[in-house]
Amino acid sequence: MTRPLIQNVLAAQPPEVVRAEGVWLWDAEGNRYLDGCSGAVVSAIGHSHPHVVRAIAAQAARVTYAHRGAFTNAAAEEVAARLCELTGFAGAWLVGSGSEAVEAAMQFALQYHQERGESERTVFLSARKGYHGNTLGALSASGHARRAAVSGIALEIPALPTGDALRDHGDRTEEEYAQAMLDEARAVIAAQEDRLAAVLIEPVGGATLGASTHPAGYLAGLTELCREAGALFIADEVLSGMGRTGTVLACEQESVAPDIVAMGKGLGSGYAPVAATLVSQKVLTAIAEGTGVVLGGHTYAGNPLTAATALAVLEVLAEENVIERGREAAVMVRDALEALAREHPLILEVRGRGMLLALELDAEGRAQGDAVREFASICMKHGLILYPATGGFVDAVIVSPPLTITSVEIAQLVQMLGSALIELAGAREEPQPA
Ligand code: PMP
Repeated sequence: MTRPLIQNVLAAQPPEVVRAEGVWLWDAEGNRYLDGCSGAVVSAIGHSHPHVVRAIAAQAARVTYAHRGAFTNAAAEEVAARLCELTGFAGAWLVGSGSEAVEAAMQFALQYHQERGESERTVFLSARKGYHGNTLGALSASGHARRAAVSGIALEIPALPTGDALRDHGDRTEEEYAQAMLDEARAVIAAQEDRLAAVLIEPVGGATLGASTHPAGYLAGLTELCREAGALFIADEVLSGMGRTGTVLACEQESVAPDIVAMGKGLGSGYAPVAATLVSQKVLTAIAEGTGVVLGGHTYAGNPLTAATALAVLEVLAEENVIERGREAAVMVRDALEALAREHPLILEVRGRGMLLALELDAEGRAQGDAVREFASICMKHGLILYPATGGFVDAVIVSPPLTITSVEIAQLVQMLGSALIELAGAREEPQPA
């Protein structure tokens, strides 16, 4: 028998969450968990922040919904203004999820070319091992295991190399590795001739590869290849953005200026489904001086309630210096993970950037994904939630607590992780059933 509520694994019955505060979550049995991955790398500012809770209540009492075809609202205007100020982009299109932000990014790219009389530019390219969302366009662009759900109709978008040092670096220097990736990308891009609309890339890999970074110079080189080919460069910063890797956008650290950026997760920080697509002046001008109309829209996009929530999150980020604090806390977390890796041979690699970190585990021949699922459930028994990257390529768990985690809480996280690793090592030593 299954329950009426459908979840990914039909037979699974996860604990019921009833309360959360800061980095902590409680279930209905009274068990407490440390949210070591911010859900799905979402809760940048931690749970139940009083400023956001008050802002939601105040906005709910005023007006929650009015369609943007008829009305604008002050919160949406202010969120867009703040996002543009923080990132240097010219316009922000509000949506309700990361997938919608990616879909919109792809549509903006198509429209940019149409407005300039280049409607034949309809091809997108993305990394072979990336993840961009669960809607048809975004999933088409993904090399994640979920792609199987739409394999019969998915577009062949994932064709570019992906930075995956553990598996691909070999004996090469970082420069040689980046150059080899760029040579491959150049050939794939050249094959599209004048049909390439845009390249869509995660600056730091998340759901599929688990906090993997590209070799230094690759993203800058790829941006240059796009410019030479007359195509746009779209950065999917749904997971890496909003301070997660130490700066508002991860691209800043590579001195890369995308034409379009998709943002999500940390923008709503788990308080509301809200995301955004940011477009550069070049893209906005082409549309404004062309048809002046964006042929898109979702019923709930930019509504006063989710916009006020995002605004309150942005206020907390600014007023409490969250990104800077997160940068400092991330150094402590990384150091602690590296110390654990020296003690526990089951950890093959600690990787990532800022507070987007991952541990790659030795799967010892287990089917891909099994080792990390097993480890995540052991961690949960020890009161720690980590996010298994089960995209089909790696055996990594993502460690990405809220940016606001304190040093005491980091020590608690490390202690739980250490106990879970000891339990995992013990379980591995037990004889396996034949
Ligand atoms: N892009 C990236 C890089 C993501 O990590 C995700 C979510 N894991 C998405 C897009 C899709 O976001 P959402 O689940 O909010 O639709």
